[in-house]
Amino acid sequence: MKFRFIGTGASEGYPATFCGCEGCRKAKQLGGKNLRRRASAVIDDHILLDFGPDLYTANFTDLVDLPSVTDIVFTHSHVDHLYEKELFNLFEPMGVENPNLPIRIYGNETVISQIRDYMTIFRKRSLEKIAEVMTLITIQPFESFQVGNLTFTALLANHAGPNEDAYIYEIVSDGKSMLYGTDTGLLPEETKDYLTDHPLDVYIFDATSGKVPCPYKEHMGYPEIAQTLEEIRVVGRDGVRIYGTHFVHSWYEMHDDLIKSGAPYGIIPAYDGMSFEL
Ligand SMILES: [Zn+2]
Ligand SMILES: [Zn+2]
Ligand SMILES: [Zn+2]
Repeated sequence: MKFRFIGTGASEGYPATFCGCEGCRKAKQLGGKNLRRRASAVIDDHILLDFGPDLYTANFTDLVDLPSVTDIVFTHSHVDHLYEKELFNLFEPMGVENPNLPIRIYGNETVISQIRDYMTIFRKRSLEKIAEVMTLITIQPFESFQVGNLTFTALLANHAGPNEDAYIYEIVSDGKSMLYGTDTGLLPEETKDYLTDHPLDVYIFDATSGKVPCPYKEHMGYPEIAQTLEEIRVVGRDGVRIYGTHFVHSWYEMHDDLIKSGAPYGIIPAYDGMSFEL
């Protein structure tokens, strides 16, 4: 399985939309790995993890080819992860000659109803018309489901509460396994128990605040990732890879700084376009 990060920034992006801070100015000036789209990823070039507002311009690049997408698995409904207005372009005449329709869309109840409500209430499409372009599939906490050859399990995140069950996902492919763990704060007990019982090969975690202890309880920084790895007994296991994503501009860390501050924890900061084989 081939995994690629499309976006590795926090909700306002990096540089942030209207921000004139030193971090954002430096990121713009240096460019490259310091520019971070809103968080998303693609597996095997056709399974998307989240669809935020930057997917449209990502389609200009070799990060992703949107007409090739067959499935979108959503973590939660925040706008940096779910930009349902753009999904309207699946309908004709905006989208034609797409061989993959209807694409399958998986998410919690909030995500699925937000997409359905937008298409029916604001765009006046019937459920029959919607079904021609997308199949909406509600996933319950700790439910496992197949996406092609992959088995996803939705684990509860500590995020977007109390009215929404945000998910992080265990993804298993051919005996190899990984966690896509953005967005979340320190994990709920039942998720920690699950991850303690299921040792994985790769862990991707919310690293919003980078080297700084995270002041937001629904996100993490490197110190909280390290605490979590200790709690789910990853520390000391051989051959495990740990990536951080969803970086915010607030502490001015450039990509090279994030590499240096992550090294003592064994955490590799992801960047847009970074990929690995599982
Ligand atoms: Zn986010
Ligand atoms: Zn800034
Ligand atoms: Zn979020």
